[in-house]
Amino acid sequence: RIAAEDGLSGKQINSFLALSRDRALAKAAAIDDLAALGDPLPLLAGVPVGIKDVLTMQGSPATAGSKILSGYMPPYDATAVKKLDAAGAILLGKLNCDEFAMGSSNENSAYGPVRNPRALDRVPGGSSGGSAAAVAAGFATATLGTDTGGSIRQPAAFCGVVGLLPTYGRVSRYGLIAFASSLDRVGPFTNSVKDAATVLGVLGGQDSLDATSSDRPADDYVTALTKPVAGLKVGVPAEYFGEGLDPEIRAAVEKTIDQLKAAGCTIVPVHLPHTKYAVPTYYVIATAEASSNLSRFDGVRFGHRTETPANLSAMYKKTRDEAFGPEVKRRILLGTYVLSAGYYDAYYKKAQQVRALITRDFLEAFMQVDVIVGPMTPTPAFKIGEKSDDPMAMYLADIYSVAASLAGICGVSVPCGTTAEGLPIGVQIMGKHFDESTVLRVGAAVE
Ligand code: GLN
Repeated sequence: RIAAEDGLSGKQINSFLALSRDRALAKAAAIDDLAALGDPLPLLAGVPVGIKDVLTMQGSPATAGSKILSGYMPPYDATAVKKLDAAGAILLGKLNCDEFAMGSSNENSAYGPVRNPRALDRVPGGSSGGSAAAVAAGFATATLGTDTGGSIRQPAAFCGVVGLLPTYGRVSRYGLIAFASSLDRVGPFTNSVKDAATVLGVLGGQDSLDATSSDRPADDYVTALTKPVAGLKVGVPAEYFGEGLDPEIRAAVEKTIDQLKAAGCTIVPVHLPHTKYAVPTYYVIATAEASSNLSRFDGVRFGHRTETPANLSAMYKKTRDEAFGPEVKRRILLGTYVLSAGYYDAYYKKAQQVRALITRDFLEAFMQVDVIVGPMTPTPAFKIGEKSDDPMAMYLADIYSVAASLAGICGVSVPCGTTAEGLPIGVQIMGKHFDESTVLRVGAAVE
């Protein structure tokens, strides 16, 4: 299927950047041997999975969608990859994404855009566009993506699959090529909420290699799905239903809320008053952290190095000039600016203060309700090329994603219908820190 439809011919979805054929076949044979012995099989035995190319996987290149990492072969598995492997999953290869996970359409990949399998002239969303498309196209049963400001949930909504944002600290970031370390999270794309719960159970848990991973043990997320949702309080934030929300998405999300009411949930209007500051706050903090994290790509240790530079400083500059794409350069410039002496207090420090207010909005809302439900995206998947020349329009489309990212809370995007044109619509369910069980339970009730 991948050879026929992904890249080599046919539909050219372009979700895979590298196939790990040898590793996959060896693993499949090992699982066969286990089965032949009659031994108990691990939880994900034989399940084909794909990995976003910002995570390391031994034996496969890791590009992070960037030319600057071309030729880089990481010598180890990211913890999340290692856990899938240990649970018996078959690792198919590495998935296309926006360069260093910066983007909302997968058009910022140095290796070409990904097409949305549900509508080939449309973007799959981003930055984990390849991960969402691979599940939607049936190439993999589950994939790993990363979400810094929406990059799991938004492409899941655009491609009509489930995308889970675990709480910050729930899943180890070891082996993740960092974009914005205080925001980056690893999580799964799947076809169903139950599959997402299953994969989270495998991924969750403390990792001595990531000091920000929580020591809280992972819950039994699959068993949690069997509890009824009746009696839960569902918050509906007015700020998520304002101007700019596509009417078909509004109608589909309102229908989902009615469904929860019919299932015995209490619907409670809530307020998240600082929502309007979430996009600017996110783009200050994320670019600040990115400008620092990306300083390591200087042509010395990883990937691309310019040819015949005049001296060391020219080597750094030319390497970075040649191999970073325009969006990455824009963000390094923005991030360096907001961190610079004289501007730090006005931008970076202010953004940190507003981040605290956004987090407080959620903590206050969660004193009244168990989950918060709203639209995942203001519009369905847009056409390839439609927004690629307008970074501001692209950033503003992250309006419903970035607040949960800043607050560190968990969330899931679940398909809740399609537009008249047949484009998928996603509903977002946000939950308290480490309360993935409730978020998934509500997700299962509406899928
Ligand atoms: N679209 C957002 C950005 O461009 C989010 C990306 C992400 O979550 N990695 O930064």
